[in-house]
Amino acid sequence: MNRRNFLSTSLATSSIPFIVKKKNLSEDKKIRLGFIGVGLRGRTHLQQALYRSDVEIPAICDIDPNSIAEANKIFQKFGKKEPIAYMKGERDFENYVKREDLDGIIISTPWEWHVPMAVAAMKAGKYAGVEVSATVTLQESWDLVDTYEKTGSHCMILENVCYRRDIMSVLNMVRKNMFGEMLYGHCGYQHDLRFVKLNDGKSAYGKGVEFGEKGFSEARWRTQHSVDRNGDLYPTHGLGPVAHWMDINRGNKFDFLTSIATKSRGMHNYIVENGGKDHPNAKVNFKCGDIVTTTIQCANGENIVIIHDTNSPRPYSLGFRAQGTKGIWMNDGNQIYLEGVSKKHDAWEPFADYQKQYDHPLWKRFEQDAVNAGHGGMDFFVLRAFIESVKNKVAPPIDVYDAAAWSAISPLSELSIARGSSPVEIPDFTRGKWKTNKPIFGLNDNY
Ligand code: NAD
Repeated sequence: MNRRNFLSTSLATSSIPFIVKKKNLSEDKKIRLGFIGVGLRGRTHLQQALYRSDVEIPAICDIDPNSIAEANKIFQKFGKKEPIAYMKGERDFENYVKREDLDGIIISTPWEWHVPMAVAAMKAGKYAGVEVSATVTLQESWDLVDTYEKTGSHCMILENVCYRRDIMSVLNMVRKNMFGEMLYGHCGYQHDLRFVKLNDGKSAYGKGVEFGEKGFSEARWRTQHSVDRNGDLYPTHGLGPVAHWMDINRGNKFDFLTSIATKSRGMHNYIVENGGKDHPNAKVNFKCGDIVTTTIQCANGENIVIIHDTNSPRPYSLGFRAQGTKGIWMNDGNQIYLEGVSKKHDAWEPFADYQKQYDHPLWKRFEQDAVNAGHGGMDFFVLRAFIESVKNKVAPPIDVYDAAAWSAISPLSELSIARGSSPVEIPDFTRGKWKTNKPIFGLNDNY
């Protein structure tokens, strides 16, 4: 989610001594996990899984020998046997998913590979855990849903921000009606990602201006999306949590959206400033507007605003805001106002006291277990939810319909912008089941 924090967490944890962890629920029952993509993100999941005594990892899959070698180092640190590696080209995952000793597969590859891999895993009878965003095109969102409905194999979008501690407290408060009837959610992915990295394997923080073959990690594939597409390229970190506040797919649904984009300046300016005006990439035309704003109308009358802002100098913030008929919480400033509850009329209060009082039961219970995990602990919870779903053979708390609907905002925002910001219908991926589906996220003891 936050790439810099993610890097510092993952790099730092690779050199600290491993701490013996408290026992987790049903640890006695073991599952076998697979991993397709063991780049930077895949390796944080891998490390988190190796902390647990209820997970075995017989084999991993990645096309890059460096990623496999780095993953093997983590196994060595844990004193575990190196897994079998599937690395014979881009489609070797098709052989990998057929292994009989895998119950669930974590997919942490570039976006365009998520759906082919998840569909293959589901067809092979495995639970698929897919990184964010799950899909790139509208057809891919339908492919995920159709495959689930045909095979009965589950698919979870691994949206870790849904498990952020403050976000879960706010969810708790929404469900206790503290904000009254919900009216509005604001969110986004506001993170300066201009510093594409050099492919020397270590310049993770370098002011590189290369991408594609010469890039490192996400710069190898992600930057190209900003060249080719004008829309919200990464909506789910913001939208996932808000969707839970609004009961989307479970009593409510997205109806339609409109999107608008600013001009594109940030990437070009950055390349000129750091690589010089004669650098070949200074000629690249970046299609993606620097700031893309999407507004969603929900069936029950709420509005959601999502901002995508990754190419400008700015401090990191997901910009959350939850507002109802009786109050408002804002992530920026971490402040709250509840009519009749807040001490002073018309004045913000710090959220810290509410955070403690309405801390989600999952966080109270697993705080210590989450200590070693990335992104302030939420990576522990998202992986745990996937594992518990596999173990108990039940639907994951964030399901295939969430994966389809949340991710579909990307292609639909592109469509809206291409049509002069006209409204675009958001399909009902549940095919009407949203009317009777009940919320499950964060309500079960396990996840
Ligand atoms: P990365 O480039 O570091 O890793 C991707 C890995 O996938 C590489 O090792 C690459 O060799 C491998 N790969 C590519 N094509 C493959 C194929 N056909 N078969 C097997 N392996 C293949 O990128 P990353 O930063 O690890 O991102 C991976 C995913 O994780 C992306 O979807 C990204 O959006 C997501 N991500 C999520 C968070 C979060 O907080 N939830 C944080 C970072 C990244």
